[in-house]
Amino acid sequence: MNRREFLILMGWILAGAQIPFKARAASAEERILIIGAGMSGLAAAQTLVKKGYEVVVLEGRNRLGGRIWTSQNWKDTPLDLGASWIHGVKDNPLTALAAQIQAKTVQTSYDRYSIYTSDGKALNQSQEAHLESLWHKIQSAIQQANQQNKDQSLQSAVYKGVKYQSLSRQDQQWVDFLISARIEQEYAGSSKLLSAQWYESEAEFDGPDALFSQGYQILIQALAKGIQYTLNQEVKSIDWSEDEIVVKTQNKTYLADRVLVTVPLGVLKAGKIQFSPALPQEKTKAIQALGMGILNKLYLRFPRAFWPEQSDWIEKIPQGQAAWTEWLSLKRTFQLPILLGFSSGEKAKSMEKWSDQEIVSSAMQTLQTIFGKNIPKPSDYQITRWGEDPFSYGSYSFNALGALPPMRENLAKNIEEILFFAGEATERYHFSTVHGAYLSGLRAAQEISNASNP
Ligand SMILES: Cc1cc2nc3c(=O)[nH]c(=O)nc-3n(C[C@H](O)[C@H](O)[C@H](O)COP(=O)(O)OP(=O)(O)OC[C@H]3O[C@@H](n4cnc5c(N)ncnc54)[C@H](O)[C@@H]3O)c2cc1C
Repeated sequence: MNRREFLILMGWILAGAQIPFKARAASAEERILIIGAGMSGLAAAQTLVKKGYEVVVLEGRNRLGGRIWTSQNWKDTPLDLGASWIHGVKDNPLTALAAQIQAKTVQTSYDRYSIYTSDGKALNQSQEAHLESLWHKIQSAIQQANQQNKDQSLQSAVYKGVKYQSLSRQDQQWVDFLISARIEQEYAGSSKLLSAQWYESEAEFDGPDALFSQGYQILIQALAKGIQYTLNQEVKSIDWSEDEIVVKTQNKTYLADRVLVTVPLGVLKAGKIQFSPALPQEKTKAIQALGMGILNKLYLRFPRAFWPEQSDWIEKIPQGQAAWTEWLSLKRTFQLPILLGFSSGEKAKSMEKWSDQEIVSSAMQTLQTIFGKNIPKPSDYQITRWGEDPFSYGSYSFNALGALPPMRENLAKNIEEILFFAGEATERYHFSTVHGAYLSGLRAAQEISNASNP
């Protein structure tokens, strides 16, 4: 079948027509359908197209990139509403990718920070030392929990380890701040749901973290070059009972020899795609047990910067439930009077129900506590609600209490070399990251190529 015939077949609206039977071809002429045009789907597509495969990518959204989403709403600066950083630039495959396309990156540093107490005073040296000693206690509590046979929630392990109940009110606040800023913000899961045993079971790349000056989308644009994709195609069902796989979207039917599914864990959890036959139990168990966390962003743009301009990070110990504990400043890195506030876990979930105005004013209260009532009002804002997003239902996966790391391998396993799976959640060691998604796409492409060239 030539390319033209293939594309006609792919775009065929069946409307009751008979699907012609076709035995599975064992070559690069196979029709490969990839569901999802995020980092994993596009990485797989690029690899397969380079090997000569006919590939079509179906994307439910009206844009490419998935959880990489660079907003162009502010004309003078692209803003990443999804992923921002290459985490650990050393030996990270994304660093090489960025270099290939000469994408400009800027490093941020955790050593450049300003940290404030709940009433907005800068921490002095001895307070900072005390905060660090609490952090060491938290870390050793987690290490102990790592070694136990029985799992527990991260919050429970930490509370037991630091003897939370016998701490002063201030130390309790500080422990909760550290859990929020250094753990929940990174893993996006509530500490009540995170597994203590499998905390930090992932691998990391060394080196600093880097932001993209033109936004992360630059990688997506590069990977999408030469790829055949269709937007606004929400896959509803995948029937893999016959040799020819039948994939239905809201208005079209596509046929393929092999299908790669890259939709987020949140979409699989929500049962938005009907598989027939149903997915095997080891996969459905993994889908249920692994956690899908929420990390949301609030960008506030001000007429001028009123915070320490050399600090990349502004941290604030909250008064009550942890909120707006961490802000990234874009002043030093991009010379812009913009602050990016984060919310994660349970707080992020409940905040998604708030109006934009409520979210902005709660964030402003925090900033006013630190910098005074006279700080300028934001001239504009941008807010995300990843938990409600019907194409992700969350920000990224985490190891939840009750989940085991090998479950990610079960999620990644192909089924009879017909249905393949990729996406950040399928990566045992690099889940929750863009590089994890990328590596999973390469892995799935290799599996497909092995399967079709036995
Ligand atoms: C707020 C936020 C901040 C983050 N920060 C970072 C960071 O700084 N660094 C980092 O490394 N990682 C970060 N991440 C995580 C990173 O963005 C993801 O791990 C990665 O982009 C996931 O890529 P993926 O291909 O697995 O999934 P996705 O990018 O979600 O791609 C899956 C695609 O499938 C599509 N889809 C879903 N359902 C259907 C359907 N039914 N039919 C058709 N298409 C469908 C989706 O629209 C999407 O385009 C962040 C994520 C968020 C949300």
